[in-house]
Formats: sequence, C-alpha cells, structure tokens
Amino acid sequence: MDPPSPSLEAGHRLLAWFFAHRRDLSWREESDPYRIWVSEVMLQQTRSRTAEPFYRRFLERFPDLPSLAAAEEQEVLKLWEGLGYYGRARSLLAAAREIGARHDGRFPSDPRAALALPGVGPYTAAAVLSIAFARPLPAVDGNVVRVVTRLTGDGGDPASSALRNRVREYVGRSFHNFHPGWVNQAWMELGALVCRPAPDCPSCPLAFACLALREGRAAELPARRARPPLPLRRGTMFLLLPRQRVEAGGLRAELSAAWTADPAGRGFGERLRARDLPLLLVRRPSRGLLGGLWELPNVEEAEEEAFLLASRIARLGPAGPEVRHAYSHFRACYRPLPGLLPGDKVLGRWPEQRWVPPGELAGYPRSRLTIKTLGF
Ligand code: SF4
Repeated sequence: MDPPSPSLEAGHRLLAWFFAHRRDLSWREESDPYRIWVSEVMLQQTRSRTAEPFYRRFLERFPDLPSLAAAEEQEVLKLWEGLGYYGRARSLLAAAREIGARHDGRFPSDPRAALALPGVGPYTAAAVLSIAFARPLPAVDGNVVRVVTRLTGDGGDPASSALRNRVREYVGRSFHNFHPGWVNQAWMELGALVCRPAPDCPSCPLAFACLALREGRAAELPARRARPPLPLRRGTMFLLLPRQRVEAGGLRAELSAAWTADPAGRGFGERLRARDLPLLLVRRPSRGLLGGLWELPNVEEAEEEAFLLASRIARLGPAGPEVRHAYSHFRACYRPLPGLLPGDKVLGRWPEQRWVPPGELAGYPRSRLTIKTLGF
C-alpha cells in the first residue's frame, strides 16, 4: 500500500489557515539566512515567546554573521544566559567562525555544506534553507511529528528514526508548488496552535483529512514513550569569601550572624554588597554540560567534608535551605554553605577561578543554579 500523501487541497487549506492565523513573531518575515538560523537555534528546546526577547537582544548586539564570528565566547554565553542548553550558543559561534573562514561570511545554501557546520542538524538545515533559499527540505520538529502522526494515524515510536523518516517524507510531499519555507512554517504553526497535545480539532483546517480524528484516536497519538525519572544530584554550593580580607576588617562575626539569622536570605548578600566583599566564582570546562559558564564552587554531597578539609575552608554558618533546579538530564538539589578561603589557596579542581565583587557578578554568564542560590 502506498504511504499516505497530503492532497493539494490539504496544502491549500493549510496555507490559507497559516496566513490567516500565524503568530506575529520577530523572525516571521525574515529572509536573511543568518537571522533565520539564529531564531531556529534558539527555538530548539525553547518556546517562541520565551525566545523572542533573547532573539532581539542577540541581534542588536550581533546584527550580522561577521559580528558574531568576531565575538568572544563569554559575551555570547552572557547573551544566552537564561535560555539554557548552552551548547547551542557555543556551536552557533563555532559555526559562524567557520562560515566566515570557509563560506565568505554567508550561510551556505547547499544542504551538505550547511549540515557540515557545528550544531547544524537536519532540522536546522531544512528550516533555514527552505525559508531563506526556498529549498524543498522538510523541517520536522516535535510539533510536526504530532500533527502528521495524527493525520496519518501512525502509532510508531515517535523517537525512532523510522517514524521521523515517514514524517519527513510526508511533509516533503506536501510542498507541491508552494514555497517550502511557508509550508514548513505552516506545519509547525499548526502543531503549536491547534494540533497541540490536547488538540482543538473543530478549529483545524485539516480535520477533513485526519485519520486519528475519524477513528477517535487523536488523544492517543503520537504514541507515548515511557521515560525513566531524571537522576537527582545532591550537593553543596560554596559561597567563599577571602579569609584575610574578612578577618582584617573584623567582619567574620557580622557575616556569620547575618547568615545564621537567615541562611541564604537577603541579609547576607546585603552585607557583601555593603562591604564590597568578592565571592569566588569558578568556570566550568568549555566542553560538556553548561560548558564555559561560571558558577559557585560546588561538590556532590559525599565529597563535602573532604573538600572543606583539603581546601582549608572555615565555615561561616550552617548550610542553607536546598536550592533546586531541573536540567535536561538530571535534577540538582544543592545547599548553599558560606565559608572563608585562605587567600593563598587555589581550588585544585577548577582551572579558572576569580574573586568577583558583588556588583560585577551579573556580568558573568552563570549557571541557573548559581543565580538561584545567590538571588542576585
Ligand atoms: Fe490534529 Fe485534530 Fe487537526 Fe487531526 S483534526 S490534525 S488531531 S487538530
């Protein structure tokens, strides 16, 4: 049996619906491949409305590809702070530099060249090239998978490459003679606005052709995957102050009292600001999770005592209440602990560490857990 194909009428209805109902987003009318690329990278793992202010700020600072290619990684990460999945920002920068060096500063229109760039996978390449260069490449994200599996009644595993290929072929057959960029965006928009996890079938322009609706299976598709719970990491985040400076100023008792009265409360931070006392930040390695971000020194629960001892840290008070954050691959639950670090001591496990005055902390791209722990 032939695989299902979207009819020309379905294409007309889909596009008519799209032009009547699409959201007014900052990148919607964009034709510059660089700007489309930035939006597509930000939209991976992030909702449109969340990404919009980041997109505008990013393009104010880096309005074109050469300006991004010349940027420092720290500045790019800082502008990305709060969007998460920082590997995207590092790959964007690496790819911009490569485009500058190998493609004359212009995003390549050839799919193979685009796919060879760092961080550019089939989805991003298809989205950018279809919108900017009218290349007939199907851009399939989670929204599109949901719509198409329902339309075709496909109960396969949505994470499997076999299902993704079926969806890609289906979308590829929906281009007819329409502009592929508009068709790709229309599929995504339908998934974002109408064929949502709880579908609004009465508003759907494709209801007339939907197998799942006809069979009463819309809520069951796409098939669910059983996900194991995320592992939990527990540990301690250290708010470390320079020991000599605190003791020379006779500030130890004052800081200790402020912390003990309200662990991790605002009083402690206010004291640091009033006395302009720097905190120690350490930088994560460039590669890997949260790579290149700055954070408070931290260790897992079982290592705490050994770390305190080896680093000659003097506690300033008891550990504060837990600070939690859910990352993509694990949940973190850390308790803040203030302490004094001898000025001559360097923490062995982090190659880059810096004493940062309170007024300058916000200038560093920092992990979410560190921002939550500090509260400033
Ligand atoms: Fe989705 Fe309902 Fe439209 Fe089918 S009819 S594509 S289930 S919104």
